Amino acid sequence: MRSFMHETRPARVVFGKGSRQFLSRELDLLGIRRAVVITTPEQIGLGQQIADILQGRCAGVLNKAVMHVPIDVARATIERARQLGADGCVAAGGGSTIGLAKAIALESNLLILALPTTYAGSEMTPLYGITDDGEKRTGRDSRVMPRSVIYDPELTLSLPVQLSMTSGMNAIAHAAEALYAADGSPIYDLMAEEGIRALAAALPRLHEVPGDHDARSDALYGAWLCGTVLGNVQMGLHHKLCHTLGGSFNLPHAEVHAVVLPYALAYNASSAPHAMTRIARALHGDDAVRVLRALGRTLGTPRSLRELGMPHDGLDRAADLIVEKAYPNPRPIARIAIRELLEQAYTGAEPG
Ligand code: NAD
Repeated sequence: MRSFMHETRPARVVFGKGSRQFLSRELDLLGIRRAVVITTPEQIGLGQQIADILQGRCAGVLNKAVMHVPIDVARATIERARQLGADGCVAAGGGSTIGLAKAIALESNLLILALPTTYAGSEMTPLYGITDDGEKRTGRDSRVMPRSVIYDPELTLSLPVQLSMTSGMNAIAHAAEALYAADGSPIYDLMAEEGIRALAAALPRLHEVPGDHDARSDALYGAWLCGTVLGNVQMGLHHKLCHTLGGSFNLPHAEVHAVVLPYALAYNASSAPHAMTRIARALHGDDAVRVLRALGRTLGTPRSLRELGMPHDGLDRAADLIVEKAYPNPRPIARIAIRELLEQAYTGAEPG
C-alpha cells in the first residue's frame, strides 16, 4: 500500500557538453557580479580556465580545497573572499571543492554556483561537513545548496579512470540507499533507479575508453540523479559505515563506498526486497549484491578495506561507532552482525 510525502527543493541545473560557456548568464540570474573561483591545488588549471571564461567577473582563484574541509582552510578562504570583494562563489571540482564552498556559504551567505567534476553528488545536497580539531561536524542547511549547477561532461574527461569508477560507485550507493529510505517517494525511486541504470551502463564504457564523450555525459547524468536523491532522502547503514570508516580511519572517500556497498546491501537485503529488485533491475541482473560485485570486478574497483589501509585492530572501534547512535535503516543495527560485516569487508570475502 502506497504512503508517502514528496517535497522538492528548488534547484537549477544546466546540463550539456560545453555548458560552462553559460557561466556568465547563470551568474547574472543569481545577481552575482564578482565571484571567487574555488578549486583544489590539483585542479588549478581548471580554476584558471574558469577565470578566463569569467574575465573581469572573476575576483580571484582560491585553490586550497582539500578532503574533509578543515576549519582553518575554510576560515582563510572566507577571509580571502572578503578581501577580494566577492559577492558569489564558483565551485569547480569534486566533493572536496564543493564542500569548501558550502563552508563559505554557511559563514558568509555567499551564493554558490557549482561545476561538478566528479560523480560524488554534493552539488545537489544541503549537506555540509567541516573538520575542527580532528572531528568532522556535519549538518543540513539550505544556505549551502548551490543555487545553480552547470554539469559539463567535458570537465570530467580528466578525471582519472580509477577515480571515475569509484566515484561512480559512490553515486550508485546514494541511489541504492534511497530505494529503501523510509522517507523516499515514487519520484525519488524513479530517479534512483534511472541513476543506477545510467551509471552502470556508462562506467564499463569509460573503463574501456575514458575519453568517450557520450559515456562521460551518461555517467554525469546518472550522477545528477543520484546526487538529487542523496539531497532529498535519508541515507542508512551504507553511508554510516562509509562516513565512520572515512572519517575515523582516514580512508579515501569514493574507494570506501566502492568496497562497502555490496556488504551493506547484503546486510539489508532481506529487509528491503523491493529495493533489491529495483537495484537488480537497474543493473540488468537477478540478484543486486551479486551483480554489483560483478560490476566492481569489471571496473577494477577495490575489493577490501585491507587494501585501502584499514587497520584490522580498528574494526572493533568502527563497530562501536556504527552502533553508537540510532539512524534509519530497514534492518535493525546489531553490533555482532555489523562486526561480522566489517570482517568480511576487511578481507573482501563474499558478502552475506
Ligand atoms: P574530491 O573532490 O576529494 O577529489 C579527489 C581528487 O580528484 C582531488 O585531487 C580533485 O582535485 C581531483 N579531481 C576531481 N575532479 C577531477 C577531474 N575532473 N579531473 C582531474 N582531477 C579531478 O573527491 P570526491 O569524491 O568528489 O569528494 C569527496 C568529498 O566530498 C568527501 O569529503 C565527501 O565527504 C564529500 N561529499 C560530500 C557530499 C555532500 O552532500 N555534502 C556528497 C558527496 C561527497
